[in-house]
Amino acid sequence: PLTLGILGGGQLAQMLALAALPLGVRVQVLEPDAQAPARLCAEHLHAPYTDPAGLDVLAGCDAVTLEFENVPVQALSALEGRVPVRPAGSLLARSKHRAVEKEALRAAGAGTAPFVRLEEPGDLDGALEQVGGQGLLKTSELGYDGKGQVRVRSATELQAAWASLGSVPCVLEGVVPFEREVSLGVARSASGQVAFGPLVENVHRSGILRTSVYPAAVPEGTEARARKLARAVAESWALEGLITLEFFLLPGGELLVNEVAPRVHNSGHLTQDGGGLSQFEAQVRAVLGLPLADWRPLHPCAMVNVVGVEDEGGQALSPDWAGIDALEGTRVHLYHKAWRAGRKLGHVNLVAPDQATLGQRLKQLESLIP
Ligand code: ATP
Ligand code: MG
Ligand code: MG
Repeated sequence: PLTLGILGGGQLAQMLALAALPLGVRVQVLEPDAQAPARLCAEHLHAPYTDPAGLDVLAGCDAVTLEFENVPVQALSALEGRVPVRPAGSLLARSKHRAVEKEALRAAGAGTAPFVRLEEPGDLDGALEQVGGQGLLKTSELGYDGKGQVRVRSATELQAAWASLGSVPCVLEGVVPFEREVSLGVARSASGQVAFGPLVENVHRSGILRTSVYPAAVPEGTEARARKLARAVAESWALEGLITLEFFLLPGGELLVNEVAPRVHNSGHLTQDGGGLSQFEAQVRAVLGLPLADWRPLHPCAMVNVVGVEDEGGQALSPDWAGIDALEGTRVHLYHKAWRAGRKLGHVNLVAPDQATLGQRLKQLESLIP
């Protein structure tokens, strides 16, 4: 039997493990937090990502992957040469730094938002004009779910925003007037075989993904163009494993890449229940060199995230679980995490026989989840 090592033990590791087990694959997780979600469904080694003894255990697996981009690149470098590491540390180093990532995307032929690197105080001069007068200031590293981001409209706001982020290295991005947001996963095996996930449409709320829908309501040809860009990035970055591209779709039909996740993605969770191969199985297959195919739902489907939300009095608001269970086509996925405001606690997938029914059910489902 094969064993897959995963750096990180969050909900993505939980769901990778749930997809790996039926393939006869065991999962070994290295994760510092003893309460992390994957503890319940994988061998869970509770140690820092760079712990030599922990890395020795991962080196004994058939291949190693990650589920979290904030693992140190050194953890991957320390494993390279001992076990196939997919994606490689060099790819992780690109995708974990917003400016490096955008430069590498452009080198692969993909467009991005206009941006300026802000690393020292002098870099702020004229920066806002260079990106079009309004911007999003983002820390270059460690941001997720819209954390470490501030919208700025003037030089004064930019100064204050940079200070509020701790004056750490940042990128200032121009505000993209997108019509829609879509995402697409791409997997590439060590032998160079490429496979794609579905083009999914995403709606964010307060910087956090709220809803994903398949199929995306986009002009003809959009998916083919997204695939072309994803293939170019995968090939130019010598991907082994699976990555997900987030795109802005402009009113004229052009696609800009917002960012790249070096792994399965929240927008791909709907593939768990859409009837086709799931993104989790796709990552397991790509990383272990098992036969790979496009992963695409067989039915219209959607996903709504369950995020910790509180009312004005600071009381946790709960989804209407009974209502969700009673709604046809739903399936609940929980992550075994303690409640915290703004934290992703689970998601609900939804399937329907046709798009009109999906739209109706999705409205109902959204009304049941705060
Ligand atoms: P995650 O990794 O969880 O997706 P993140 O913290 O890396 O989140 P981004 O993807 O950079 O955040 O941004 C979150 C959302 O904010 C985007 O999906 C988009 O809705 C909006 N956004 C980000 N950058 C821009 C931009 N330059 N112009 C317009 N909207 C933006
Ligand atoms: Mg991100
Ligand atoms: Mg994002």
